Amino acid sequence: MKRIVVLGAIVAAGALSIGVSAYQQPARGGQPGGAPAPRVVEVDKLKDNFFVLRGGGGNTAVFVMTDGITVVDTKNPGWGAPILEKIKELSTKPIVRIINTHTHGDHVSGNVEFPATVDVVTHENTAANMKKMAPVTGLQAPPPGPTIFEQNQGRGLSKQSFKDRMTIGKGPDQIDLHYFGRGHTNGDAWVVFPALRVMHAGDIFSGKNIPLLDAVNGGSGVEIGRTLAKAADGVKNVDQIISGHSTVMTVADLREYAAFNNEFAAAVQEAKKAGRTPDEVAGSWKIPAKYMGYAAPPAARLRSNVQVVWDETK
Ligand SMILES: [Zn+2]
Repeated sequence: MKRIVVLGAIVAAGALSIGVSAYQQPARGGQPGGAPAPRVVEVDKLKDNFFVLRGGGGNTAVFVMTDGITVVDTKNPGWGAPILEKIKELSTKPIVRIINTHTHGDHVSGNVEFPATVDVVTHENTAANMKKMAPVTGLQAPPPGPTIFEQNQGRGLSKQSFKDRMTIGKGPDQIDLHYFGRGHTNGDAWVVFPALRVMHAGDIFSGKNIPLLDAVNGGSGVEIGRTLAKAADGVKNVDQIISGHSTVMTVADLREYAAFNNEFAAAVQEAKKAGRTPDEVAGSWKIPAKYMGYAAPPAARLRSNVQVVWDETK
């Protein structure tokens, strides 16, 4: 049992640093016959009325507006209640809305623990994906059975969706939602808080690492670099970017990440044209030295991404 606990901790640490969706892992860290490990939510205060909650999956943002609170992403199953508890320490205002950046279980599962009255806003493709919760490309499929939303009679599913652009509220409360194209999935929302000059990017920019390209949910290794560049060009007046699983980044970091992904796609496409195999590419590709501070890619993720680009290349 002890070994399982330690392994779980390593998996969890790896998930945080490289942005793996770890939600398929069963609940872990419990003691034999005892209570499960406590779910600890850590708070980073970015502004007086804006917080990032860390732990338990993707980064959660909490935006305290004039008359209520907007929450972006709700972490793994079982983390909705700890998020709600932590928010109570930050503000007495009611939670009025969840925005989900994309469909993955480590960003949407806590939705089912929020009051049913809370609005849920997503990109339209994510709204469709959340109804299916399909297995994620490159990750072990969860055991068959009803999705977390089916288990909860549809509670927490998207209630309002957008295609290219949506604005909610105004002045200090304004939230701008953008869609710039496919990348991590086909429904990656970019969530901008213009009064605060802050944006939540979700997992299309999970951190400085090779991305998870979830082709099953519409992700694209050929498009992701272009989509990231479009976002860097299309969003004005942003100083701080909340990444899916890592630290706060800048627009310069985002531009670099766009170039990094474009170079990766080009390298795979050139190799395919040159008659090499996906295994050869995955076995020899290294992060170019100019990309400082990028996490070394796990072999399985690299192999999966090579295949995604390969399959998209005629
Ligand atoms: Zn994700």
